[in-house]
Amino acid sequence: MPPTTTLDTLAAARDQLLVRRQRLVPEQLAELAAVPDSVVPSLAALAHEVRLDWCGDTVEIEGILSAKTGGCPEDCHFCAQSSRFDTPVLATPFLDTDQVLNAARETAALGASEFCIVLAVRGPDERIMRRLLDLVPLVHNATGLDVAVSAGILDQAQAQRLAAGGVHRYNHNLETARSFFPEIVTTHTWDERQETCRFVKEAGMELCCGVLLGMGETDAQRLELIAELAELAPAEVPVNFLDPRPGTPLSIRRPLRPLEAIRWIATFRLGLPDVILRYAGGRELTLRELQAMGMTAGINALIVGNYLTTLGRSPDADLTMLRDLGMPIGALSKVL
Ligand code: SF4
Repeated sequence: MPPTTTLDTLAAARDQLLVRRQRLVPEQLAELAAVPDSVVPSLAALAHEVRLDWCGDTVEIEGILSAKTGGCPEDCHFCAQSSRFDTPVLATPFLDTDQVLNAARETAALGASEFCIVLAVRGPDERIMRRLLDLVPLVHNATGLDVAVSAGILDQAQAQRLAAGGVHRYNHNLETARSFFPEIVTTHTWDERQETCRFVKEAGMELCCGVLLGMGETDAQRLELIAELAELAPAEVPVNFLDPRPGTPLSIRRPLRPLEAIRWIATFRLGLPDVILRYAGGRELTLRELQAMGMTAGINALIVGNYLTTLGRSPDADLTMLRDLGMPIGALSKVL
């Protein structure tokens, strides 16, 4: 049996989130994040209840396309697309329109509701802005999919133009806590990332703001990150786990233990009860046989197919997993 204090902590969190429908305070979340390994399945079960109660049972599927790969001038230490590191990723120019449309059609055929066009750039220049503003309505009209974009740091005017051009969601990750960020990126600041996130919301797009766990951050910094996200209130939080890429400064880090990943999925859900919490890169490597457990630990969305520079498992395997779990597929927006 877990210690009585641990059971009390879980029961108090349950009452607060499910009966009184109030968010947890940071001290409560810190206690929950520190439960022994043997209690992680109970933590996950609570997070699943919270997900069902706050967001419903629907799972959202999204496909992402790396429309311009590699050659990025930034130095994010986890990223194989940075031109500063000697990685196997070859820089390629912006894909042509037919290639983007074909990828979007393949995504739609899987039952997805969202398609994200991702570019490896510091931020979009005018040429990229024009291509995006041309592509977004073409993709939407050809497939019916909501179109998301991830193109780095935006200024306020760019955010407004993308919103007016029909971009449904804009992805810009915080990646990690403000206090850890300078150890991971030196070519831009956490504050610049946060500012882009604010411009996205002010312009009326849904904000998709993800994290990358397993880069050497402490538990306290993961909790700090949850608090920073809670303040930004994104519609969606993609959860990536570090897949150490050859040639990058983080290539020698070891992936998180699978149960540790489940612990943090659950903790993110308990700290962010109403967000779309999406499985993203690195889950196959990190979670291995526990991928279905993540779906019952607070996750309610998936990227299916391949990631930007790494291969995901087959979409069929994910669709089978969702069928086996009895989880319906559909579109989601932030509930509250
Ligand atoms: S994470 Fe984005 S901004 Fe950073 S190096 Fe990679 S592509 Fe560039």
